[in-house]
Amino acid sequence: MYLAEKAWPDLETYFRNESLALVPVGSTEQHGPHLPLATDHLIAEGFARGVAEQTGYLCTPTINIGVSPHHKQFHGTMWVDPPAFRAYVESFSRNLAYHGIDRIIYVNAHGGNVEHLREVGRRLRDDETMYAIEWMWNDSIPDLVDDLFERNGPHGGPKETAMIQHFKNEWVAEDRLAEARDGGLAGFDSETGRKFGSRVYYDAIENADNGVFGDQTDATAEKGEQMYDAASEQLVRLCEWLTTQDFRDLMPEDHI
Ligand SMILES: [Zn+2]
Repeated sequence: MYLAEKAWPDLETYFRNESLALVPVGSTEQHGPHLPLATDHLIAEGFARGVAEQTGYLCTPTINIGVSPHHKQFHGTMWVDPPAFRAYVESFSRNLAYHGIDRIIYVNAHGGNVEHLREVGRRLRDDETMYAIEWMWNDSIPDLVDDLFERNGPHGGPKETAMIQHFKNEWVAEDRLAEARDGGLAGFDSETGRKFGSRVYYDAIENADNGVFGDQTDATAEKGEQMYDAASEQLVRLCEWLTTQDFRDLMPEDHI
């Protein structure tokens, strides 16, 4: 069920009987020469809306702008500072609690949001308002992502390319996939941008001239669909687990 398309009387039964809301959270930031700036919010929305339709759980409108200053050198990247983002997410989460929601899954598709969503979730739990957790699609299917792509990348690589080919193929510049690979850093690994154990970069451009990593020519819409099916199944299971938990059991343990 999508909240924004309903009239308020149509939402009464849900808020009286159900406890869960899915909140898609993305970004509007550069994703290389081949993908739209909408990439992360298209992916978050695709998963959240798809699973909400499949299960009947409530999906809210998408948060389209996140914490993305590490992509600021590229035209059009938008971001808000972490304190503003945290305050905003906390505020609308408390608004949902007012209507009776006591658990949220932030269906997130942007790595830069993770720590901030976790921090907000901790605040909401510490004062026992609700239990809010972050879910990221690719973290739910790490083996499949590894199997599908030889040279993946943390940003704008084949996995995100395949997801947009699946969700919104007309927004992918197919004729720039090789350019994306050749102008970026195809071979990203755990040593990239590290010296003597320290991460010495802050911005994506320091490791990739065009802002992206991995081999984008390896992406196909079919791989995107396969990842969608597998990860959305994980999200359905997370919803089912979460809604069957006793609220008390989701709250912090007492001091010993
Ligand atoms: Zn992304």
